[in-house]
Amino acid sequence: MASFRKLVELYEELDNSTSHMKIIELLAEHFQSLEPAEVKITAYLALGTIGPRFEKIDLGIGDKYGIQAISRAYNVDKEKVEIAFGNQGDLGDVASALNERQRSSLTLNYVFQHFVQIRDISGKGSQKRKINLLAEVLSKARPLESRYIMRIAQGNLRLGFGEKFLLEALALAFTGSRDNTSKVEDTYNICTDIGQLGESLANHGMDSLGKFSIKIGRPVQMMLASRVDTMEELNEKFSGTMAAEEKYDGERVQVHVDGDNIKAFSRRLTYISAQFPDVIEAARESVKAEKIVLDGEIVAYRQGEFRPFQELMQRRRKYHVEEYVKKIPVTVFFFDVLYLNGKSLMKWSYPERRQVLEENLVETEKVKLAGRVVSADFSRIQHFFDDCVEKGMEGIIIKSVKAKSTYRPGKRGWLWVKWKKEYIEDVRETFDLVIVGSYYGKGRRKGSFGALLCAVLNESEKRYETLAKVGTGFKDEDFEEINDLLKKYSIEKKPVNILIDSNMQPDNYIEPAVVIEVIGSEITSSPSHTSGQENSGNGYALRFPRFLRIRYDKGPGDATTVEEVKHLK
Ligand code: AMP
Repeated sequence: MASFRKLVELYEELDNSTSHMKIIELLAEHFQSLEPAEVKITAYLALGTIGPRFEKIDLGIGDKYGIQAISRAYNVDKEKVEIAFGNQGDLGDVASALNERQRSSLTLNYVFQHFVQIRDISGKGSQKRKINLLAEVLSKARPLESRYIMRIAQGNLRLGFGEKFLLEALALAFTGSRDNTSKVEDTYNICTDIGQLGESLANHGMDSLGKFSIKIGRPVQMMLASRVDTMEELNEKFSGTMAAEEKYDGERVQVHVDGDNIKAFSRRLTYISAQFPDVIEAARESVKAEKIVLDGEIVAYRQGEFRPFQELMQRRRKYHVEEYVKKIPVTVFFFDVLYLNGKSLMKWSYPERRQVLEENLVETEKVKLAGRVVSADFSRIQHFFDDCVEKGMEGIIIKSVKAKSTYRPGKRGWLWVKWKKEYIEDVRETFDLVIVGSYYGKGRRKGSFGALLCAVLNESEKRYETLAKVGTGFKDEDFEEINDLLKKYSIEKKPVNILIDSNMQPDNYIEPAVVIEVIGSEITSSPSHTSGQENSGNGYALRFPRFLRIRYDKGPGDATTVEEVKHLK
């Protein structure tokens, strides 16, 4: 049975090593001297924790409790411990200085099990019980041991290396070569419990790699998206049919449903169920399957409107959770499924997984499927992107629909590619457009217009042809003014001098009278707008139109013309 002292000696050596290679060798050598079950707990303890990232690892020993435990263990006044702490700044050093015990018989297992017990104490009187138990362990330790016991108990080990080093050391110790590190890392993307992986490597060496599969309760690393520089590159990369999904600006979440037991994990694989009790409840209502693992994004979302990322960040809290559940409502948009009723779906193609996802979710206000289009027509993808940006999203994620479009945990490959609005440069052209229609507002804009359908003048045809649907840029005071104008010029039937595509039917027609100045980024071609449309082909469209002001000084006859737009294209 391994002693705790051996681990402490390793800590000291690691603390004094500055060479990468030396650290890997020290760790590997140490691992080789242990039983597989000891490799497991040492893998955690080498990182200064007592379990995998996705479990609760905090022992709940703040400075106050730590001081009391030391005082009790070494029979020293609390005040004296406080003074020493003030001087030394580290309770580990304080504990080792005040400890005069020369012998110890602590085993690795004893110390580890006590850490777990301290973590698990909760409820009434837990404070006292935690302190007593820690004091008991400290009282049996030698000075050097008590230093590290305190540091681990406080989550304060800080040896200056992380998981990557440990995986490399495990590869060296149990597969015979550091060259196998990337294979170990690939397995770690699926079995994210480093202790479990270490134990399995110690038992089976290389044979254990590739044997792991996704398991309920143990999150896999999230699949990530690459980026390209131009939209054309996107088209080239995916050539043919592709899926474009809305890209939400929120927080990634992996939800594990095991009957009534539902857990949520963050992108860093930490356990976030306690922060999002509303997400857990919403999943309970929406998920049809008994056991399922879902991948999605939590977004601040209120009455059909996306709210900024900063609002969501206010939900990152330990206290007053219920208050903030009400204050900042969220919705989860699910876009993938990785596991269903005992079976991993990670080798299935994206279209197959999407189908399973659709079959197993009931959409509600708080749980939705990611919006998307699947098309081989790139102009449709472009327009979907514009719509997403218009709705306040970050952009889109293009996903491969090919047979080999598997879910690759932890990988940033070319099966998913992101395209964000920041990649686009504004050309900052302004246009004088005639309002020809309006759409009702939703959410905060209920009772008002939500967007305006705007047109340019086709001089030869003597009619107004649409170029843009403008829904952003309005200040609070603009609404009242524009609503009054819309009321004044609203008409029942579409005037003959307006050409509107069936995709763009407004809720109200507006007689061409009001001109507004609009800024936009670029002219593209669109099947939904009629400006410059010949023989029912594509028309011109203004991307990212934004309202600037009403041009009372201009009449509809002064509006930007189709010819001018053509010139700009
Ligand atoms: P980025 O953080 O810019 O690298 O973009 C990747 C992140 O976008 C993912 O980790 C998700 O959190 C987020 N995301 C938002 N919507 C989607 C979606 N439909 N599919 C995949 N990831 C998405």
